[in-house]
Amino acid sequence: MYLSVVIPVYNESANLDHLCSRLLPILDGLHKPYEVILINDGSKDNSQAILDRIHAARTDVIKVIQFARNYGQHPAIMAGFEMAQGEVVVTMDADLQNPPEEIPKLLACIDAGHDVVGGYRGTRLDSAYRKFVSKISNVVRERITKIEMRDQGCMLRAYKRNIIRLIVESNESTPFVTVLAQYFASNPTEIEVAHEERHGGVSNYNLYKLIRYNFDLFTGFSLVPLQLFTIFGMILSALSGVLVLILALRRIFIGPESEGLFTLFGILFLLVGVTITGLGIIGEYVGRIYLEVRQRPRYVIRKVLGNNK
Ligand code: UDP
Ligand code: MG
Repeated sequence: MYLSVVIPVYNESANLDHLCSRLLPILDGLHKPYEVILINDGSKDNSQAILDRIHAARTDVIKVIQFARNYGQHPAIMAGFEMAQGEVVVTMDADLQNPPEEIPKLLACIDAGHDVVGGYRGTRLDSAYRKFVSKISNVVRERITKIEMRDQGCMLRAYKRNIIRLIVESNESTPFVTVLAQYFASNPTEIEVAHEERHGGVSNYNLYKLIRYNFDLFTGFSLVPLQLFTIFGMILSALSGVLVLILALRRIFIGPESEGLFTLFGILFLLVGVTITGLGIIGEYVGRIYLEVRQRPRYVIRKVLGNNK
């Protein structure tokens, strides 16, 4: 098998037919053995019925995994990776924001010897706030992890088999596939890919989901949030030490004072806020350690169509 295309699907009934009618002719045109693995991540619409029909129409190339419930985009991609047989694996979104016409460009880079080919979106057709969140997320990731890439959120990417094997073997409970691949790559490259507006339906990421998605990224690849917090605590302790000394001297040389009560409250509330944030950061890591040691399966599969591995 030359190529596996892995596509996570969550409430994409408006897009699946169109996706296949655009994607399959391009893959057929490669004249090499391929498979398309669609993972239904617990959709609440009739995506599964459409996937059943799409599979029945092209049992030679279409494979479908149905999750028991919604586990998230990256766990869905991981399930696809575990099933994929291709020497090259391409990931993309189901909503046609990643044009399938770009796939041959990615494959050309793989043929040129790269083990990971990342797409970055030239002009991105998303809402301003989504672009803003991505920008911040990319900048922070660039600074606190040593992983260099332009656009961790772009799913249009190609990976060689050995990278897929490493990702599957790492068996993380909260995987962040694009960054993980970049971390394992020995000869990665990046190319600009087109980006389109969502063909139908609405984005599956609200602000809450987006924040949790970014927590996966930062706790998965860096201890810097914890370390920054410790450094901040050390600086604060040193400053407080100086303050205590000054107050002690004033007590001795000036006598008892009781002014500045509200200032004290201000400082106190600030520190309480900082403490709670710190507990939250620690809790975030502890929670992930808990997920990891519990070793519960990352997802439960209800049904598989077309697996012959
Ligand atoms: N997706 C998924 N599970 C989820 C959320 C999203 O499988 O819980 C899929 C979705 O069907 C799509 C891709 O992940 O194929 C990207 O999602 P979406 O287009 O909603 O994100 P956006 O483009 O707004 O970042
Ligand atoms: Mg999208």
